[in-house]
Amino acid sequence: MQIKTEHSSIVLCTLNAKYIHSAFGLRYLKANMGQLNEQTTLVEFTIHDHILEMTEKLLSHNPTILGFGVYIWNVRETLALMKTIRTISPNTILVIGGPEVSHEWQKQEIVEIADYLITGEAEVTFPKLCQSILMNDQPEAKVHYGVLPVVTDLVLPYSLYTDEDVQHRVMYVEASRGCPFKCQFCLSSLDKKVRNFDLSTLLVAFDDLIARGATQFKFVDRTFNLKVKTSIAILEYFLTKLEEVPTLFLHFEMIPDRFPLELRDYVTRFPKGQIQFEIGIQTFNPDVAARIQRRQNYTSLDDNIEFLRPTGVHLHTDLIIGLPGETVESFAKGFDKLVHMGVEEIQVGILKRLNGAPIAMHSKDFEQVYSPNPPYEILANSVLSFTTLARLRRFARYWNIIGNSGRFQSTLLLFLDQESPFYTFLDFSDWLYDVCGRTTKISYNKMLQYLQQFWTEVFKSDITPTLSLDYQRTTGKHHTPRFLVMTEPEKVKRSTSLQSRQRRHTQESR
Ligand code: SF4
Repeated sequence: MQIKTEHSSIVLCTLNAKYIHSAFGLRYLKANMGQLNEQTTLVEFTIHDHILEMTEKLLSHNPTILGFGVYIWNVRETLALMKTIRTISPNTILVIGGPEVSHEWQKQEIVEIADYLITGEAEVTFPKLCQSILMNDQPEAKVHYGVLPVVTDLVLPYSLYTDEDVQHRVMYVEASRGCPFKCQFCLSSLDKKVRNFDLSTLLVAFDDLIARGATQFKFVDRTFNLKVKTSIAILEYFLTKLEEVPTLFLHFEMIPDRFPLELRDYVTRFPKGQIQFEIGIQTFNPDVAARIQRRQNYTSLDDNIEFLRPTGVHLHTDLIIGLPGETVESFAKGFDKLVHMGVEEIQVGILKRLNGAPIAMHSKDFEQVYSPNPPYEILANSVLSFTTLARLRRFARYWNIIGNSGRFQSTLLLFLDQESPFYTFLDFSDWLYDVCGRTTKISYNKMLQYLQQFWTEVFKSDITPTLSLDYQRTTGKHHTPRFLVMTEPEKVKRSTSLQSRQRRHTQESR
């Protein structure tokens, strides 16, 4: 049967969290649309865009089929957008897919609104579904289980990065799909096996991106150091490009306990700061790790981080608050250990119950209660009350600003030098929330002032020179800003007025 293409069109859409993120999954879909490629258009927004403006732009393509990529970060906004489209253009066929709707979809409102749902990877199933729809042979089944593609058969999507993407957005790339590990909080634990792309084809695509000016490559492979031979081949390739791309930046997700000698050798050949490893540690508590089926050899982990620290590789590590059985004390111990290991970044995440993730099996035994709204963060469990988790959530937010933004480098060291960086920062976090009552929209200058006030009151110490250093490094200016200059009476007043309150904070946090 001949496909009618004259008046039919397919629009692929997603709402990215930020402008600099590019929709990698949609580009894969478009690249693999086969004979429907020409009539498929890709439209990206961010979750901050206006619903009616997005609706107008999407409908201006007069699409027969509108496909949405649905993720934990955009499900709320995508639902609102789809409802609006459904209202104004009831005949447009709405197809959804993506991790957020691939599991436990039965009760999701967004699935009710959609005409069709494709679960899992969609490169094979989406074009087939579109073909049927365009041939007026609409399938009766609403839910289509995505056929897993043979990744070496897929058309690579890299030519779909526009010049604007290359200049201003992160280049997502992948050398493999899937993960062999079973960490229960993670959807990749459901993967059956790891599938590798053809490396030589991939490197040709990278050549093209580099020729077009790409400098930053973010590998989305779940465990880049799984197949060491491939990891080495990729690093070897980028080593040959260093002269051509002096500002090259590579990001890889690694498992922390697998770093054989041959891989180490390649890593050390890159200049400082050009490689970033995202190292998921999640917990230093072996009982908790075993409970969530995260296999981790802590001796190798220690050894690998010790090796990596002086290499100039930027180490971004992840810890999770709220895993079943992880107390504040146990998390604090792990946090402090990681601080003392000297990694550059500690990303403190709050456990989320992703749709389909096996972590749900602990809900009853550990009284894990999650928010009903995305991103489904944990609210309380058997060892962390709602109030304690609220405190820890604030800790994570403030830590992200001060610990990970790079704008408080010198001041941060004051926290890190304390006997317990975790508890000192928790004291600061409690104090700050008490004083300012919010965790967002605190300007840089205001945060410097808060830090000064906290240190004066609690430690009776004037840290103005340190704050000034951070201010100068961040702003490029050379003076101590007026808002940090305190008079002597002011110092004395600050250091006595809130002493009793601070003592209370300090006691309560232990
Ligand atoms: S957390 Fe990492 S190692 Fe564990 S299953 Fe997910 S991707 Fe694999």
